[in-house]
Amino acid sequence: MLDDIVIGLEIHIQLLTKAKIFCNCSTTYFDQEPNTHTCPVCLGLPGSLPVLNQKVVEFALKTALALNCKINQTNLFHRKNYFYPDLPKAYQISQFDQPIAINGFLEIVPENSRTGRTIRVNRVHMEEDAGKLIHLERDGQIVCSLVDYNRSGIPLLEIVTEPDICSPEEAIAFLQKLRTMVQYLEVCDGNLEKGSMRCDANISIRESRTGALGTKTEVKNMNSFRAIKKALEFEITRQRRLLERSEQVLAETRRWDEASGKTLSMRSKEEALDYRYFPEPDLPPLTIEQSWIEQVKNNLPELPEQRKERFVIDYKLSNYDAQRLIEVKSLGNYFENAAQYYQDYKNLANWVLGELLRCSGEGNIAIESCTVSSNDLVELLQLIDNKTISGKMAKGIFEEMFKTGQSAADLIKKSGITQISNEAQINDIINKVIEDNPETVQDFNAGKEKAIHFLVGQVMKHTKGRAQPDLVLNLLKERIDKNS
Ligand SMILES: [Zn+2]
Repeated sequence: MLDDIVIGLEIHIQLLTKAKIFCNCSTTYFDQEPNTHTCPVCLGLPGSLPVLNQKVVEFALKTALALNCKINQTNLFHRKNYFYPDLPKAYQISQFDQPIAINGFLEIVPENSRTGRTIRVNRVHMEEDAGKLIHLERDGQIVCSLVDYNRSGIPLLEIVTEPDICSPEEAIAFLQKLRTMVQYLEVCDGNLEKGSMRCDANISIRESRTGALGTKTEVKNMNSFRAIKKALEFEITRQRRLLERSEQVLAETRRWDEASGKTLSMRSKEEALDYRYFPEPDLPPLTIEQSWIEQVKNNLPELPEQRKERFVIDYKLSNYDAQRLIEVKSLGNYFENAAQYYQDYKNLANWVLGELLRCSGEGNIAIESCTVSSNDLVELLQLIDNKTISGKMAKGIFEEMFKTGQSAADLIKKSGITQISNEAQINDIINKVIEDNPETVQDFNAGKEKAIHFLVGQVMKHTKGRAQPDLVLNLLKERIDKNS
């Protein structure tokens, strides 16, 4: 049976405002003492009244405009009613039929694909986050549940796509692009592991021949790109197998279980709660002036796509290198800082994308807090260019710089490992190599051009890689010509 995969995403991003959405409590809740950032509003105490944080609207506007959305100038807030211990009011203040923005889109280029795709964005709306339950377990059984309201009232944006996504790869491409974008906009840190960016996916299988839509399931609880990809792949296979056996796919919410690598049923959609949305009586309708929208639009920072284009034009980088450099904002900044003082941009990009990423990845260190500054890297590259050290030696030195935080010049001075550019010294070694390898020299004289590379290799070995290969090659040729 031929079929199509149909995926829609619902993404929640936590906004980086200083205060919560409807009160003045601080939004720093990670690693804080439970219930220390709370007040009557975010604890949902009777008689307390919410006041909308203007910064939340501004951040929502920024995101919606970057997603090419149409802004609704009249917004309503609604109560979404459900009971759960982490929701003290027994309703969440959210937006329902008049959200802040609708009808946007994002262009993506999935991995291993040359063609771009447009994924439509259905809506963007503002809402408050719930608190957090902490379950205490003994012998695998929950014995007690605690609730921490520090997260209650943290501002969220929910971004809902149309079901335009046709594969797990496209879903990942969309999410990666969105994450980079919100990081550039400085509205969200995009950290999936810590839950400041969360993604739920709706998945169904459509029969290609008839175009009949299949029943969809919703998958939750995925906190890394890897988990999202695996969960989508698992769910697609599960649904296909059911359909092949002419069994039914149930409309349900499923949870990704990392340990077993499976999606597991959480609750059926037929029993899904009726949220009884109604307008929030404690908040007046929000009117967004056109002038404010214009102001936000005009002050949008450079977005990843624009930066990529600029990198290709200004620094003559390949699309591929430019893409990799802009993906993490701090990495792009690192490159640009160094590029002010070092103009071999291709070489610089190779070092940033090669050694810098390798060392920071191995040590799990963020670019902004790594010990080798962009100036330190420039100094190292200049030492290669002026032939004080070879490129090979420089890699070892870079690793040392990364570990110790010392400069390239200091490390070279300490270890005395400069490149040998003294011709007399190299010639001594060449004499020895020629003496030890008469047959190879004969081969070269007989026209086997490649034989010389073996001799260069021998000289490099004797100098422990400290000679300049070009110089060695020239001196060797001169020497052999003289002998023959
Ligand atoms: Zn509060």
